[in-house]
Amino acid sequence: MAARLLDGKACARQVQEDLASAVRARREAGGRAPGLAVILVGDNPASSIYVRKKRQTCEAIGYLSTGHDLPANVPQAELLALIETLNADAAVDGILVQLPLPDQIDAQAVINAIHPDKDVDGFHPVNMGRLALKLPGLRPCTPHGIMTLLQRAEIPLAGLHAVIIGQSNIVGRPMALELLNARCTVSICHSRTQDLPAMLRQADLVVAAVGKPRFVQADWIKPGAIVIDVGINRLNDGKLCGDVDFEPVAEKAAWITPVPGGVGPMTVATLLGNTLRAAEQRDSAIGG
Ligand code: NAP
Repeated sequence: MAARLLDGKACARQVQEDLASAVRARREAGGRAPGLAVILVGDNPASSIYVRKKRQTCEAIGYLSTGHDLPANVPQAELLALIETLNADAAVDGILVQLPLPDQIDAQAVINAIHPDKDVDGFHPVNMGRLALKLPGLRPCTPHGIMTLLQRAEIPLAGLHAVIIGQSNIVGRPMALELLNARCTVSICHSRTQDLPAMLRQADLVVAAVGKPRFVQADWIKPGAIVIDVGINRLNDGKLCGDVDFEPVAEKAAWITPVPGGVGPMTVATLLGNTLRAAEQRDSAIGG
């Protein structure tokens, strides 16, 4: 493999150590532990694993984490009422509703109900707007985690042509804004893009967020490109793989993220960073 590995697991561990030190200093100064409320609706196995991991990591670095597990058939009104209660709860700095939600629930209505200052996923229209306008705010976790990974590897981004595959609200669109804010020239591709391989061959930086195993082929990659694989796909044998055909692409790229151990841990680390940030902002808003 010619490419250097962008090790998200190691980078996330460093971010979490930094957060744990900041929380210790905060507690020593008489401050309270940051509080994250995690809402899980139903029993989707992948969601349950993600929620458990987020809560365990919270506790490991000194946050207070509370779990709210609701049945799959919970009425939307009940979920919205819980969010209202958590919005008003002084011990809660961040509210996370694990997606996807069951069909009877309008996910956007749920996102809209979370107070923007407690929206640690960064999905609320106010926070997306702040990102679009380059204003401070809570950033969507996966794209911001990728930015942290690139920054900590000291990879200069300004002037690169970044090509993103995927235009979802949680990955592709905020990723484009983050990279634009870092002064990349950004192209966003999706299922209607004509000649995707030709687009990718122009890319200095590729972000793949498609949800199709090993979709991105080595002959689409410019030699020396940076390749970020957001995809998490479970294969029939139970193993995880990304959206990038890892081994052959790694022969051509300069940098590449593995799956697992790349973007996923950075998403969790960013969620925790957002929660501390939300706590600090709430303290300064109330003069604490
Ligand atoms: P999504 O909402 O399903 O979006 C997939 C995107 O891929 C869409 O924009 C779609 O285009 C595009 N696409 C599909 N087929 C394509 C094709 N043949 N050519 C070009 N574009 C194509 O998915 P998502 O929520 O963004 O997630 C993407 C992947 O990342 C999934 O595997 C998910 O599990 C993973 N993920 C990982 C993390 C993490 O922390 N690592 C976080 C979030 C998501 P259209 O818009 O035209 O349909």
